[in-house]
Amino acid sequence: MTPSNRLRAIIIGGGPVGLMAAHTFYRAGINFVLLERRNALAVFEAGGAGIAIMANTLRLLAQLGLLEAVEASGTHMRPGTVVTSDGRPFSTLDTLGWCSEFHGTGWVMVHRPELMQLLYGALPDEIRQHLFPRKDVTTIEMTEDGVVVWCTDGSVERGSIVVGADGAHSKVRDCMRRIALQESSKAALNEEKPFVATYRQKLPEPTRERRRYTEQDMKSFMEELGHAHCTSTLRLNDLYQAQTSCYLTDLHKGLIHHFHHGRIVLVGDAVNKQTYNTGQGWNTGVQDVVVLTNKLWTLMEDETDLDAPISQGKIEAAFGLYQRDRDPVVQQAVKASEMFTRTEAWNHWYDWFTDRHILPRTGGLKWIYRAFLAPANVNAQVLGFLEENNRPSGTIPWLHSTERS
Ligand SMILES: Cc1cc2nc3c(=O)[nH]c(=O)nc-3n(C[C@H](O)[C@H](O)[C@H](O)COP(=O)(O)OP(=O)(O)OC[C@H]3O[C@@H](n4cnc5c(N)ncnc54)[C@H](O)[C@@H]3O)c2cc1C
Repeated sequence: MTPSNRLRAIIIGGGPVGLMAAHTFYRAGINFVLLERRNALAVFEAGGAGIAIMANTLRLLAQLGLLEAVEASGTHMRPGTVVTSDGRPFSTLDTLGWCSEFHGTGWVMVHRPELMQLLYGALPDEIRQHLFPRKDVTTIEMTEDGVVVWCTDGSVERGSIVVGADGAHSKVRDCMRRIALQESSKAALNEEKPFVATYRQKLPEPTRERRRYTEQDMKSFMEELGHAHCTSTLRLNDLYQAQTSCYLTDLHKGLIHHFHHGRIVLVGDAVNKQTYNTGQGWNTGVQDVVVLTNKLWTLMEDETDLDAPISQGKIEAAFGLYQRDRDPVVQQAVKASEMFTRTEAWNHWYDWFTDRHILPRTGGLKWIYRAFLAPANVNAQVLGFLEENNRPSGTIPWLHSTERS
C-alpha cells in the first residue's frame, strides 16, 4: 500500500514490539520512521529470552505472511514436565494439547534475537530504509501541528504522532508525563516508576528500581540455587555450564493508567509489564500494535478530505479508542501473570498445596488456561484491512475477524 502523507508516525524502539509496528504500519500504508538506540537492528545478538508465541499471534503472523518463517526458526512446544527442586516430577504442562483443542494450534517457542532478526529481514528494502539504529531519543516536544523528537546525536525527527515502543523503562513515557505536567499541574499522570518487582527468586523487598546484574551476581545466584533440578536428570548448574548466553533479571509487573497523551501513544512493555510465567508479554504488545494500527487505518480511511493532515482531536480520539479496547484485556493479563508467579513460586502454603497437589491431581492446569488465558487469546484482533487465509480453529471460536474494529 502506498504510504499516506496525512500521518507520519515516529516509532521509538526497535524491540520485538516496535518491529511488529513497522510491519503493521507498512501494511496499513502509514508513513513512519523507527528510531532504535542500539547500534544495529539486524545484527544477531547473544542474549534475550525465548518467546512463546500464542495462537492469536500465530494467526496474525499468518495474516502477515510470516508464519512459515517463524515456525521454521522456532519449535512447537511439546508437553513439559514440572519437577520439584530435587527432581521429582509432579505435573505436566500440555500446552500443545490444550491449545490445539481450544485454538487449533499450539505455542511456538522462538529465541528472541532470532525473532527480531526475522522480523527485520522480512521488511521490504524500501521500508527498512526508514528504520534507524544509533538513535537514542532524549526529548519529545509537541507543537501545534505535530511532534518533534531529539536524539543524543543531535538529530531531529518531525512527525504527526510518536509511538513509544521503548520497553518497560520507557523514555517516551517519561516525556509524556513531563509534557502533561507542563500543560497542567493538575493533569492525570502515570506514576514515575509504575512497575514493581517482587520476584527474581523472591526478592527481600519489592523494588521499582531497574537493577542490572553482573557476571558475579549470576555466579553467586548459581552458587545458591544451581543445585536445583530443571528436569529429573538436569540441574540448573548443568544448564549454566552449557549456556551460550545467560542473564539475571528482576521480574517487574504493572500497568499504567494513561496509554496516551496528546500526540503520544505507548505500546508493549512501555504500557504493561508482566512476569514471564504466562508467556504473554510480547503477545500482549503485538495486540497493542494491531489494535492501534486498526484505529489509525480507520482514521485515515474515514476522513472526508483525503489530502489534509489529520487533526490532533481525531488522533486523540483514536488513541482513546485504542486504550478503551486494550485496558481491560491488559489488566487481566497482568493479574494472571502475577497469580501464576505467586503460585509457581509457592509464595504461601496454599500456593504450594494448589500447585503441588491439587492442580496435578485434578487436571486443573488445563482449566486454569481455559479460564485465564484462552479468553484473551480468542478476544484478540487481527488487521481489519488484510485478508486472512488458513485461520486455525478449535473448540473456542475467535471473537474478531477481518473487519474494521
Ligand atoms: C525471562 C523472560 C521471558 C519471557 N518470555 C516471554 C514469552 O514466552 N512470551 C512473550 O510473549 N513474552 C515473553 N517475555 C516478555 C517479552 O520479552 C517482552 O514483553 C517484549 O520483549 C517487549 O517488547 P518491547 O519491544 O515492548 O520492549 P523491549 O523488548 O524492551 O524493546 C524496547 C526497545 O526500545 C529501545 N529503546 C529503549 N529506549 C530507547 C530510546 N530512548 N531511544 C531509542 N530506542 C530505545 C531498546 O533498545 C529496545 O530495543 C519474556 C520476558 C522475560 C524477561
